[in-house]
Parts: sequence; C-alpha cells; structure tokens
Amino acid sequence: MRVFDRLFIDNDWCDSVTGRRFAAVDPATEEVIAELPLAGADDVEAAVRSSQRAAAAWRREAPERRGELLDRLADVIEDHRDVLAEMETRDMGKPLRESHANVTRSVRTCRYYAGAVDKLLGDSIPVGHQGYNFTVHEPLGVTAHITPWNYPFANACRSLPTALAAGCTVILKPASQTCLTTLMLGDLCRQAGFPPGVVNVVTGSGAEAGQALARHPAVRGITFTGSVDTGRRIMQFAAEHIRPVVLELGGKNPQVVFADADVDAALAQTLRGAFTNAGQVCTSVSRVLVERPLYAEYVERLAARVAAYTVGPGMEDPDIGPLVSQEHWTTVARYADQARAEGARLVTGGDRPAGLPRGYFFAPTVFDQVAPDMRIAREEVFGLLLSVIPFDTDDQALAISNALPLGLTSGVFTRDIGRAMRFARDLQAGMVWINEWFQSPVQVPHGGIKESGLGREQGMLALANYTQVKDIAIRF
Ligand code: NAD
Repeated sequence: MRVFDRLFIDNDWCDSVTGRRFAAVDPATEEVIAELPLAGADDVEAAVRSSQRAAAAWRREAPERRGELLDRLADVIEDHRDVLAEMETRDMGKPLRESHANVTRSVRTCRYYAGAVDKLLGDSIPVGHQGYNFTVHEPLGVTAHITPWNYPFANACRSLPTALAAGCTVILKPASQTCLTTLMLGDLCRQAGFPPGVVNVVTGSGAEAGQALARHPAVRGITFTGSVDTGRRIMQFAAEHIRPVVLELGGKNPQVVFADADVDAALAQTLRGAFTNAGQVCTSVSRVLVERPLYAEYVERLAARVAAYTVGPGMEDPDIGPLVSQEHWTTVARYADQARAEGARLVTGGDRPAGLPRGYFFAPTVFDQVAPDMRIAREEVFGLLLSVIPFDTDDQALAISNALPLGLTSGVFTRDIGRAMRFARDLQAGMVWINEWFQSPVQVPHGGIKESGLGREQGMLALANYTQVKDIAIRF
C-alpha cells in the first residue's frame, strides 16, 4: 500500500516547516503504518496563500469545466476504489465492505455536484417599470474543511465537491487519527486535472493546524464536522472575521419502537443503526426506546443477535471492526463502567472480546433498564454502547427523545400513520426517519438542530454554504 506522507499544497508534496511528524496507527494491529507531517501555522499559511492564488481563476472557470473536473474526479476515485477502501480500513479500522460503500458514496457525491454546477440560479425581483433587480450567487473564495475520523474519505468528499462546484477553493484538514485517504484524495484531485491550489491538504493536530486554519482571515468559509465542543470553538473563530460556518456535530439519537411496529424491521434497523462502523456514527441509534409490552421480547432478540456478531480486523470483513484509537477505547470502556455503576443492566458485551488481546477491539454492548437521567442515556458515547429504555405513552417517548440539548436524527417505528406523523412533527431533530434509519443519500439535506449543528450539507441547499448573494439593480 503506497502511503502519501507529506503535505499536499499546490498540486505538490512538501514537508512540514515544523519538521515534526506523528504516527498513523492501524487500530486492528496497533502497528504504525505511516509517519505524517505535523503541520504548524507556517504550513497553514502556505496552504492558504496557494488557495488564494488559485481562487481568483477558479471562481471565473466556466461551470461546465468545473463539472467536467468533478466528473473526472469521480472516475479517478472509482479507478482507485480498492486501494482507497483498503487504506481506509487499515487507517480507521472499519470493515472492508463499509469502506467500499463509503467510496461508492463519495463517487456519487462528486457526480451529483458535477451536475449541479450550472443550476446555481439567482432571482429576478420586480421593482417597477424603470429597472431590473436580480441576484447572483458568488463563491466565497478560500474555504476550510475540517473533518473527523469516523468517515475520513466520505466526509471529505461530502463538502469538497459542493464547494468546488460553487467555485470555491478547498483546504482539507483531516482528523489526525485518520489522514491517509484524505491525503490520497489530494492526489486524486491532481490526477483529475484540478489546477494547483484548488485543493490542498494539511495534516496535523486540531489545536495547532486546525486552529490556525479556522482563524486565518483569508479563509472565507468553514465547514466543520466533529464534536459539539470543538464546534463551539470553531464558531468563535469564525466570528473573529465574520465568516459563515457549517457545523455538523454530534447526536444522541433516539429510535422509538412501538408495540404495533413491524418488529423484525425495527430490530434490523436498531442493529444496523447502532453497530455500523462500530457505532462511531453521528447519526447512529444511540438510545432505543421500546414500548413496555414489547420491551422484554425486544431486548432478548436484540441481545441474541448482538452476542452473535463477529468482531475482528476490518481487513477480514467481520461484522464489527476495532474502535479507532486507544484513547477512544478508554472513553468507551469508561462509559460502560459508569453505566454499570449507575445501575443499568449489562445485557451483552461491555469489555474487550475474548481472543483479541491486541488492537482496539470492544464487544458490541447492550444495556437495558437505562434511566433517561443516566449519563449513558444523555451523552454521546460514539461507539458500540446501545441503551434500551422502556416507555409507556406517546408523550413519555417524545419527552425522553426531546429532553437533550442535541437533535441530529431520530426515528419512530409504528404502523399507525397518525402517530408517525405526530412524531415527525414533534421530534426535535434535523432528520426524522419513519420505519427507516440512515436514509441520507447525497440529494437529501443532512444536519442537526439545537447543539447538533448549524446549516445543512448535501442536496442543492448545501451550495448556499459556499456562496454569497449579490443583488444588482439597474435603472433605465
Ligand atoms: P473533534 O471535534 O475532536 O475533531 C474534529 C476535527 O476538528 C479534527 O480534524 C480535529 O483535528 C479538529 N479540531 C480539534 N480541535 C480543533 C480546534 N481547536 N480548532 C480547529 N480544529 C480542531 O471530533 P472527532 O472526535 O474527530 O469526531 C467525533 C465527533 O464528530 C462526534 O461528536 C460525532 O458525532 C461528530 N460527527 C458529526 C457528523 C455529522 O455529520 N453531524 C459526522 C461525523 C462525526
């Protein structure tokens, strides 16, 4: 596996001015697979300057040319799908088939925005007989894209094509745990034919490279995906120079299952929702609320399925791969210990699985008898711990669902259409799924309300993240 282990600036590879490096670790084996540049403020400065130089020409590029390049990027990603999927799995840990699915999704995003380049329409506004008034959408210029470690490639490819389609240049700053496929994405952009500086990639810590990028006055828009705490800081950085932000943050997402639901379908979505990507998904099922008459049966069936899951290295394509890092393993283990201490009942899992002494493996875990005020029911764990909570009435289920400051996704499983629509109306979340989970293809707006985020990615709406409106008035 060829690893790109330098910064990608101006369509070229360069060493960090700092000379410092950090390790990329395979979470399944704990082996170092690369040493990557720990960029500092000077490196970020170089990336921003390059991006600024490119922005002047890129904003004038004909829309069809931008679309052509995005289509070519989709082709190049497809051509490298196997190496990308393997790299993602080795770097992040997820099962190989999931990495492949993430690459497929990224190809689709590039193609979607390749087709969107000439659909950024303005308005014509009536102002009377003696003039015209119309709007145009102008690109912001240099944009920063700071991504988390759970979907490194797919998250980079979620906002990059949108920004490029809108005529912005892009600087990517991947999470330090998982940089490899984002560095390779830089190279794939070069291969696709994007001019130097249109896409740059800097690696390093959030506190140093991330912060230098987010605070740089020449960066005119920031798209951030990550935790609520960091999101709050990003918003403060954006305020320093009055820049728009898109914040895709965490969730503590409830799935409400009524006794009248198609139980097999609900169960399948609980399992998929809670344990895809080892539960390291912002939109995952984190709390499953089950109506009391169904509760005991649901927990029993859930436990049987979860206990049968295979856990192992992502390259062997098990049901569940390792967690991303030792640090995250410790966080998840601490939440599990705390849940037990607070009185939740451990149904299955709760620790390192037998037979896997190395690697950041944790068994898929179900806690029941979880009370809504326990920490495990209130805070995002972001990995493998599912809380099952009983409820008796519709109002109670809604109150528990909406009690937290977060509001990313939520779902309700019922055959009662009236109840489903009431929940769709009253659940406080950016995305509500009815008898469904994880439906968020590229054409659908993705994002949260309350502290789960600000703005939306995906779909035509997201083009507005990278443009500002200019109003033009003519008198004659
Ligand atoms: P994180 O906030 O720790 O880091 C995210 C990114 O921000 C990383 O690239 C990091 O280096 C950078 N960063 C950290 N501190 C920074 C600073 N002071 N200035 C600038 N950049 C900084 O989050 P994480 O642990 O990598 O990711 C997990 C979180 O991401 C979870 O809360 C999850 O729910 C959320 N997430 C949300 C979505 C979504 O679409 N809503 C998608 C994936 C993950």
